Amino acid sequence: MSQEPHNLLRRIPQVDALLKTAQGQALTSQYSQQLVAQTLREILEEVRKRIRSGQTCVPAQAELLSACEERVSKSLQTQKPVVINATGILLHTNLGRAPLATQAAQAALDAATRYSTLEFDLDTGRRGDRQAHVETLISQLLGAQAALVVNNNAAAVLLMLAAVARGWEVVVSRGELVEIGGSFRVPEVMAQSGCILREVGTTNKTKPGDYRAAIGESTAALMKVHTSNYKVVGFTQAVDIPELAEIAREAGLPLLADLGSGALLPLNVYGLQDEPSPREILAQGAQVVCFSGDKLLGGPQAGILAGNTDLIAVMRRHPLMRALRPDKMTLAALEATLQLYRDADLARRHIPLYRMLGTDQQTLRLRALALMEALKDISGLQCEVAESQAQLGGGSAPGEALASVALCLKSRLVSSNSLADRLRHGSPAVIAHIRQDAVVLDLRTVFPDQLPELTGALKAVLSSLEVQDA
Ligand SMILES: *Cc1c(COP(=O)(O)O)cnc(C)c1O
Repeated sequence: MSQEPHNLLRRIPQVDALLKTAQGQALTSQYSQQLVAQTLREILEEVRKRIRSGQTCVPAQAELLSACEERVSKSLQTQKPVVINATGILLHTNLGRAPLATQAAQAALDAATRYSTLEFDLDTGRRGDRQAHVETLISQLLGAQAALVVNNNAAAVLLMLAAVARGWEVVVSRGELVEIGGSFRVPEVMAQSGCILREVGTTNKTKPGDYRAAIGESTAALMKVHTSNYKVVGFTQAVDIPELAEIAREAGLPLLADLGSGALLPLNVYGLQDEPSPREILAQGAQVVCFSGDKLLGGPQAGILAGNTDLIAVMRRHPLMRALRPDKMTLAALEATLQLYRDADLARRHIPLYRMLGTDQQTLRLRALALMEALKDISGLQCEVAESQAQLGGGSAPGEALASVALCLKSRLVSSNSLADRLRHGSPAVIAHIRQDAVVLDLRTVFPDQLPELTGALKAVLSSLEVQDA
């Protein structure tokens, strides 16, 4: 006998009645009265809707309460965001860019969970400068007169231009009007900072005379932007820092340099081309340099400004500074990262980026072989260890490949696209590339302590295919 909807609706239990059952009591004591009641209300509302649109039964109390438990426990789970990066892209912007050194992560945790001397001077017992420690360290490492830290390098460029050149012209080569990752475009940042872009030269060639001709009464600065993420090859010319510094000096203007990554360690030992060294660029005559904290520095997201005391002081006092300043966790992590650079060897040993860069091919090969061995009993799987090419990423060293080793997988049961998709949905999620129709797991970006987890995730996904096939 079919029931009228209004009869059914009347049979839906009240939230209070559900809460009073043994099962309801257990839920409220395990979770929270408020969350459980709220969730039950949502569930009952959904039941009402279903009945109005034709459903002909009311779920039992136990069923409603179980649904509630599932929903509440799920909503309280903090999602574990950790993934295994098997893409071979070391500074993967979508996967969080630079992983921190343990020391830096610990420093951030301490700053986050305890009181700190962030703005407290232990000697005087009064207010201190929140950036004093980190600025001293940066100045020492870069041989700079002064330094300042902001939220990211985009903020550093914005502040530098707003403080030095608001309402005035800044001369930049046409070949350096770069776009970084969609939202950071040099001409747009310049406009936001209130200065006027004076483009000189052409896309492929800019000469010293181009800069000289553009300098006039309304010029406030020359700026050099590192073309981090692309290369112009062929018939090209650019003016290097020493020559540009000379032109700026003659005109009595500051030379500003956005270095993008700003590597404190040479990269040629890893077979890569060196990125501009902030220390060298300052020594060659730039007045201010800025660069990212989470690219080749391997630290937290931050923008570092360093150089001339007076110019840095103008930036420090600028009203934008308050809006762009980094928080205590960032400062703590950055300081701990910079401490490691006081000895290049410490930095190479402890900063994950440099550990990954420094791992030799043979070690990677052994890891790949161990992984392959662990998968040998899985049927329908084609598996091989092959040379691969990793990349720095993060808009550093464009087009340069880093020798690496990968495990290449092909399943006879599903397409490689589908396999990569399943790995992304695995636990933990594994992010891989597809190359020549195989799923390629590059081992250079897989932390050695993640190998057991990677093995587990691969086995789980691959054996679930076997079961489906059986
Ligand atoms: C990456 C980059 C930026 C932006 O730095 P973020 O730290 O990502 O804000 C600006 N300029 C250049 C040249 C870059 O390479």
